[in-house]
Amino acid sequence: MGLSDGGCTKLDELGPDTYAYLHSDSGWGHSNAGVVRAGDAVLLIDTQYTLPMTRQLITAIDDAGLPPVTTVVNTHANGDHAWGNQLFPSADIVASVATAQSMPHDFPPALMQRLLSSDAATTAAGRYTQLHFGAFDFDGVLVTTPTTTFTGTMCLDIGGREVVLREVGPAHSDGDVIIHVPDADVCFAGDILFAADHPVMWCGPLENWIAACDSILETGATHIVPGHGPVVGPDGVRYFRAYLQHVADGLALRFSQGMPYWEAAMDLPLGPYRHLALRERLVATAAATYHHLGAPKVPPAEVLERMAQAHFNAA
Ligand SMILES: [Zn+2]
Repeated sequence: MGLSDGGCTKLDELGPDTYAYLHSDSGWGHSNAGVVRAGDAVLLIDTQYTLPMTRQLITAIDDAGLPPVTTVVNTHANGDHAWGNQLFPSADIVASVATAQSMPHDFPPALMQRLLSSDAATTAAGRYTQLHFGAFDFDGVLVTTPTTTFTGTMCLDIGGREVVLREVGPAHSDGDVIIHVPDADVCFAGDILFAADHPVMWCGPLENWIAACDSILETGATHIVPGHGPVVGPDGVRYFRAYLQHVADGLALRFSQGMPYWEAAMDLPLGPYRHLALRERLVATAAATYHHLGAPKVPPAEVLERMAQAHFNAA
């Protein structure tokens, strides 16, 4: 399982008893996590994509000398942030109501296994899934929904430390939440921030995502942990916000010209964002954006097939 660990083995301390668990590899499925500790209370922000990856995370927490996790927050419903939930049976699992509602429907593990079967390789979607997800071991994953849900803002008391959860979705997904740890000047952004590769937007609209970047900046945090990629400062958030605005403007123009969403995604000039990998993710972002602009909603299977075709045609 070469890809499955993403080069991630330890916690990095960003502030007092505040840690990031960072994957050195970017790409699909390598999601960062966070840990906040006070006394016997340990908050984990996001689990991992598979059970072996989540066990590796638990080992890293243990190796750092921390007690077992008492609370889990899922930043959103995507499997790479939540499919390890079942390994924390005694923890309170917290997420937004929208995340809890979409979690059972978010690309179920059984569908992933089916796309990874040899029959599926006759379609671009099947070949793309095998290319990017074939090294992950989804065996045994049981989608495990939150035990506590909220809307708007929720303050957690972690052993006397204040941790603020703020719902900023729908943006990347239905129910995105950012987590601010004021006493450490750290914000865990989940997939509201991608610091490597193109981001993918499943839900949107992009205006909400741009506003969510402003919410990160409003925390005043100096260390921002993205869902994918390295830790950045506020300038990294501003750079990403400008990317989103560039994409929103370029897609709106092409929508008004009648260009199909999958063509618009690959036609958009990337300028300073040319170096980012996984350009085909713009196909999904374009499909969601076109829907917000008035086009019919595109079924997820079609989005995946168009995205995969864009990848193989550009290769
Ligand atoms: Zn993610």
